[in-house]
Amino acid sequence: MFIFKKVSDLQRHLQSVRSSGKRVGFAPTMGALHDGHLSLIAQANQACDISVCSIFVNPTQFNDKSDLDKYPRTTEKDIDLLLKAGCHVLFLPDVEEVYPPDFDYDFEVSLEGLDQGMEGAFRPGHFKGMVQVVRRLLQIVEPQQLFMGQKDFQQYSICKHMIKVCQLPVQIVCSPIIREVDGLAMSSRNVRLDADARALAPEIYKALQGAQALVKEGKSVAEIKNAALSALTRPGFDVDYFEIVDEDTLVPISKFEEGKRAVACTTVRCGGVRLLDNAFLT
Ligand code: AMP
Repeated sequence: MFIFKKVSDLQRHLQSVRSSGKRVGFAPTMGALHDGHLSLIAQANQACDISVCSIFVNPTQFNDKSDLDKYPRTTEKDIDLLLKAGCHVLFLPDVEEVYPPDFDYDFEVSLEGLDQGMEGAFRPGHFKGMVQVVRRLLQIVEPQQLFMGQKDFQQYSICKHMIKVCQLPVQIVCSPIIREVDGLAMSSRNVRLDADARALAPEIYKALQGAQALVKEGKSVAEIKNAALSALTRPGFDVDYFEIVDEDTLVPISKFEEGKRAVACTTVRCGGVRLLDNAFLT
């Protein structure tokens, strides 16, 4: 695996890769890697000739400085995992490489409300920073395919929109959520759960599975939302939101419609850790 810290070195390498007709698949991450991240690399390896992973804890998407400071950093272990996963290139830049002095922080993509609800309502400015870094990384890496996880569904939707409006020549691929055996969605933040919180956390996925079962029984959106909220309202959990939204607009729906996919998205605070999860309902 090649490891580059400098944009110029990475680009020189990728230039030669591309000139030999090879396709580049890219998975941006913030490190503290787990099997969810590695599934993106596996998909990139399957669909493309070269997989590129970036590890960059992007300061501009953290509205809470203590969250940025507490974000787990495990670079040596990450490198080991990427080697085992058959990753071809790791981009490990410093902040100054990603945001050089002439970086245009004012450039904004109109997100048409996609960033307003759910995570956007709880983390002001988060998606603006996330779009900024993904756009910049795409400009640096110039992949044919971008692999992002369904785990962060709003993030995926916003990136899909950004790629469309900026007419970037890259295809975005949504990778399924990888879970622990008890159903908890894998996340870099899970290491911060204490034993009690970790034992409780799988109830989030159970509530999503319950919602899927109620759809099959023909229950209404309101009934399903109420049932999920009451399943999640328990000691040890603080529900930030549970929304059933349209797959494309991310607007909460009031009824299921033929030909449109609905996604249940939730964030629950458990033992001081925000846990995100979602599931397609239709
Ligand atoms: P992060 O390092 O948390 O910014 O995540 C980097 C990428 O990995 C994003 O596209 C995430 O959606 C994806 N990802 C994180 N957790 C999982 C998971 N459990 N399953 C699949 N993809 C994931």
